Amino acid sequence: MRKPVIAGNWKMYKLIGDAVSTVMALKPLVANANHCEVVVAPPFTAIKAVADRLEGSNIKVSAQDVAPEPKQGPHTGEISGDMLIDAGATRVIVGHSERRAMYFETDEVVNRKVRAALSFNLTPIFCIGETLEERDAGREEKVVAAQLAGGLAGLTANDLTRIIAAYEPVWAIGTGRTATPEQAQRMHAFVRQWISQHFDRSTAEGLRILYGGSVKPENISDLMREADIDGALVGGASLDAESFAKIVNYDR
Ligand code: PEP
Repeated sequence: MRKPVIAGNWKMYKLIGDAVSTVMALKPLVANANHCEVVVAPPFTAIKAVADRLEGSNIKVSAQDVAPEPKQGPHTGEISGDMLIDAGATRVIVGHSERRAMYFETDEVVNRKVRAALSFNLTPIFCIGETLEERDAGREEKVVAAQLAGGLAGLTANDLTRIIAAYEPVWAIGTGRTATPEQAQRMHAFVRQWISQHFDRSTAEGLRILYGGSVKPENISDLMREADIDGALVGGASLDAESFAKIVNYDR
């Protein structure tokens, strides 16, 4: 059984005070959510304050990025995995399409970040997904397969048990245009099949694959009914505690 994960990516939003009040409002609203793992990903500056308020709760904290280095060193502006753990994070989003598109993260860099995260015992939430142009050209599976091959290069099946994947079609992120449950399911099944072929069947069966792209309280339940959708990575709708709590407490 794969325990679902509902994770909120706050992106570059929220000062510390707002981040803290959001989680204080969220805590009681999701206190009974034992059916899934609840995760929030504040910006770096708010991780410590948020993690302190969430100690002892059922909400886990994720960072949104990590340095590709396996140890501290002279890398001005970067944040190492042990710094994230020190601040209270246990997970980290890696390879988000905004980082790939706006900050030129290649599959090779994403791979180094995944490995760096694992070396510090942080769970990477490894993002993949095609652009609209790629989908319109019928290349979505090729693109996602290349991202999987590049991002997971050199990892073992055991490493895969410590990773969460997130399929986020770029055309559905922040656009209000969600993939249909069938479109998402088709790609999730493809990802699982790819993992089965390149690792093994039980690794593939154990991998949690989240869907991301305009997930809202109104569409989460239909998405979660699909066999290979194991949760959601939520952007915009995670910024408000009530809306995120409705997503966490989806109809089951
Ligand atoms: C995201 O940024 O990971 C995301 C899915 O954003 P949104 O839910 O706003 O589309």
